[in-house]
Amino acid sequence: MDFQLNEEQTMLKKMVHDFAEKELRPRVAQWEAKGEHMSPEYVKQMADMGLLGLCLPSKYGGQGRSAFEAILSIEELARVGIICAMPVFESSVGPVRVIEQFGTEQQRQKYLPQVSRGDMLISVGMTEPEAGSALTDLATRAVLDGDHYVVNGQKRFVTGGGASEAYVVYVRLSEQKGAKGIGGLIIEKGTPGFTFGKPERFMGWSGVPDCDLIFENCRVPRENLVIREGDFKKLMTAFDLERCGNATMCLGVAWGALEEAMAYSQQRKQFGKEICEFQAVQLMLADMALRVEASRLLIYRATVNASTGLPIPLEANLAKCFANQMVREVTAMALQVHGGYGFSKEYPIERMLRDGWGWGIAGGTIEIQKVNIASFMLNRRFDQRR
Ligand SMILES: Cc1cc2nc3c(=O)[nH]c(=O)nc-3n(C[C@H](O)[C@H](O)[C@H](O)COP(=O)(O)OP(=O)(O)OC[C@H]3O[C@@H](n4cnc5c(N)ncnc54)[C@H](O)[C@@H]3O)c2cc1C
Repeated sequence: MDFQLNEEQTMLKKMVHDFAEKELRPRVAQWEAKGEHMSPEYVKQMADMGLLGLCLPSKYGGQGRSAFEAILSIEELARVGIICAMPVFESSVGPVRVIEQFGTEQQRQKYLPQVSRGDMLISVGMTEPEAGSALTDLATRAVLDGDHYVVNGQKRFVTGGGASEAYVVYVRLSEQKGAKGIGGLIIEKGTPGFTFGKPERFMGWSGVPDCDLIFENCRVPRENLVIREGDFKKLMTAFDLERCGNATMCLGVAWGALEEAMAYSQQRKQFGKEICEFQAVQLMLADMALRVEASRLLIYRATVNASTGLPIPLEANLAKCFANQMVREVTAMALQVHGGYGFSKEYPIERMLRDGWGWGIAGGTIEIQKVNIASFMLNRRFDQRR
């Protein structure tokens, strides 16, 4: 087992680190305070640096690199702010991977190059008002009518909603109940019958668009079917990669908070000395580092094992669940190290705490992840309905 990064990985990490520090860090506070989206010029810069579509095959304009390299990049960017990491997250571990892994050649040729160039973001619409954790209760219905599907239903809390140009939407393709009737359709913004709800106002993730997707007799070309009825498992397998990305967002935020706490504890003086000289503060710093490093190892294992494909579900679930809890604990400790200044909006820590919290809900709650983990460990399915 080799814990060293190779030369290419080290160079990639440094390039992303320098870009994030120089171009993005000076602007994050303003984007967050005003709820502004990241300016397209920076998304374009990321595309020019080859950061978008890092894991997409080179024949579609991607870099053909491994999931691990995307994870290294997301970690560096999220350390500065989750808004900075979103384009790499969406284009490397997001729903575009469903198209890359399971889509038709026509779909790959249509969507993947646009994503790699930074001309298109693709989001995922799974959750519904009445189907959150119980995702397989989803009711959005797609009925085949000639060479189109007619879609009716509503998706909730869609990250990128309104801003993204296309959506991988989980739909019910027949009257079959549960997972059996579920498949996936690619639905483009601008398709007649497809509108957006009002922008979501979350406690964190400011500047990251989110809203409902509303489908009213929306006619979607038949060739946009990406996952057929009954292949729900494929959607979930691809989603395990997104879970590794989710975990990495937590890792980046927590690492950033730890760095802030380390710096602050060596500047702030009380009782005539730097607060890092107090053992209580040292213990908090050490507790933060323990959690960050352990989380990093779980994430790296899951993604190195995913190589250029998809991760082992148990490893992805362990990495996500641990990171989701870890970021809440670490950002809270970092805030405490800052005293009243940590609670103030003049410092970035309160933003990190708010941003970190959401990942333990998005992509499956911590509780549901734990049920999954126990299920994998015992090799048993636990029916939540009986
Ligand atoms: C910031 C953010 C971004 C998101 N982005 C997207 C996105 O891009 N696309 C998308 O489709 N969705 C997205 N979501 C939605 C997210 O996936 C759901 O919120 C999540 O799956 C939980 O569903 P729910 O909110 O309906 O909560 P519920 O399912 O109602 O859960 C409420 C509580 O009950 C617990 N609970 C429920 N069932 C069980 C059980 N069987 N055992 C134990 N505990 C249980 C949950 O853990 C939770 O604590 C996002 C959410 C957030 C907050």
